Amino acid sequence: MSDHSEIFSLTGLEISQGLAEGKFSSEEVTQAFISRIKEVDEKVHAFLSYDEDDMLEQAKSSDNRRSTGQAIGPLDGVPVCLKDVISAKGQPLTAASKILENYRSPYDATVTVKLKQAGAVVGGRLNLDEFAMGSSTENSAYGPTRNPWDLERVPGGSSGGSSAAVAARETPLTLGSDTGGSIRQPASLCGVVGMKPTYGRVSRYGLAAFASSLDQIGPFSQTVEDAALLLETISGHDPLDSTSYPASVPGYLNALKGKLEPCKLGLPKEFFGEGMDDEVRKAIDQAIAWYKEQGYEMVEISLPTTDLSVPVYYVIATAEASSNLARYDGIRYTKRSEHSENAIDVYAKSRGEGFGEEVKRRCILGAYGLSSGYYDAYYLRAQKTRTLIRNDFEKAFQKVDAILTPTSPTPAFKFGEKSEDPISMYLSDIYTISTNLAGLPGISVPCGFSENGLPIGMQLIGQAFEEEKLLAIAHAYDRELQYGCKQPNL
Ligand code: GLN
Repeated sequence: MSDHSEIFSLTGLEISQGLAEGKFSSEEVTQAFISRIKEVDEKVHAFLSYDEDDMLEQAKSSDNRRSTGQAIGPLDGVPVCLKDVISAKGQPLTAASKILENYRSPYDATVTVKLKQAGAVVGGRLNLDEFAMGSSTENSAYGPTRNPWDLERVPGGSSGGSSAAVAARETPLTLGSDTGGSIRQPASLCGVVGMKPTYGRVSRYGLAAFASSLDQIGPFSQTVEDAALLLETISGHDPLDSTSYPASVPGYLNALKGKLEPCKLGLPKEFFGEGMDDEVRKAIDQAIAWYKEQGYEMVEISLPTTDLSVPVYYVIATAEASSNLARYDGIRYTKRSEHSENAIDVYAKSRGEGFGEEVKRRCILGAYGLSSGYYDAYYLRAQKTRTLIRNDFEKAFQKVDAILTPTSPTPAFKFGEKSEDPISMYLSDIYTISTNLAGLPGISVPCGFSENGLPIGMQLIGQAFEEEKLLAIAHAYDRELQYGCKQPNL
């Protein structure tokens, strides 16, 4: 089979199976996706760049391995594209910022190494909000990504390129990063699966850091099964990331094969109050009804500190960002201002010219929250409140196996609708942020469409390092409903 249109709709596992059965080669698969990118990415703009020759080279190596009986495993020959904050040796990494316009990664991120070792065809740099700050990709210095379901609307963010590329079938699998919702919210808005693993599950070595106590890398795909495969490939302890968890990684994909006994799902009453769009509520109610029919028990729970999560996040995340982004100084990594007359000028002008509005806003806010005299009032207080948020989850998990919520309060919004008002943009992550503050795993699974055809996502939150159970609960639903396999008309 070499008909492109038959290949690019397939899931990662379907491609894997087709390769194993000799239905097509990795080169044909990779070529099919490159053609698809050329066909639709002018409209979608999910990609900042891609290196066609390098991808085809990797595909040929995979085919060679296979022809000599040395195929490595299920990802061998399957394309995976990366958010443009994850290093791949020799490839650009812009973080969608002008300041890194000409930067190329001198080494592979640990996740990139793991993907390459698994034989995946790793290529393609995906758009995002500059330095992963935003919820719409409107903050990309290279222009926004468009939602494949409605080109007038945002794909969500910050990993909007990663979610849109899967939705537009430009690649079967992608990686993104999630600091406050940046995998789950765009997955929800684009109708694909997106998962943030437990803090520490996946190494961040080679990820351009935003807020180091919150950032995690995770997968996007059409199905929960594909997400499980990708997650088990990238997970595990890494001596190069001191925050990575020193434990072995369960076989997530295998864990989905058994039958899961229905368990208890918590519905946090604070999440189901005002602010939720009626159509989102309807889709979530239907998902709840589905689980009940299967014998799952729904338990009302309370997460009383929910309304504190957005303010706490914006103190902690900006503080860490102001410190992490100090390295972009016009001396190392970055473009240097051509208008500087002395050393101070080099720093100030390179940063002033290189960073966009939102990044500047966060660096200033973060530096303020950390400054002497304000540290106790803002940063320290936010850290203490963060502990309360985590305690709320711990209490809830004494009663339930996972928590079910919407992923985003609304389906995809229009360009410009929130970009003038940072607070309204910040509130689009109201359901996802507390998961990061508590360090827990969360997954967004497509659960229906609004009347005008926009995807809606449900979020499932699990206990720390219990991705196996979380994926199994998500897969029980996804295997039957398969909303992520529906394809937009492009
Ligand atoms: N939208 C949130 C922010 O702007 C979350 C971003 C993220 O998870 N990277 O900070």
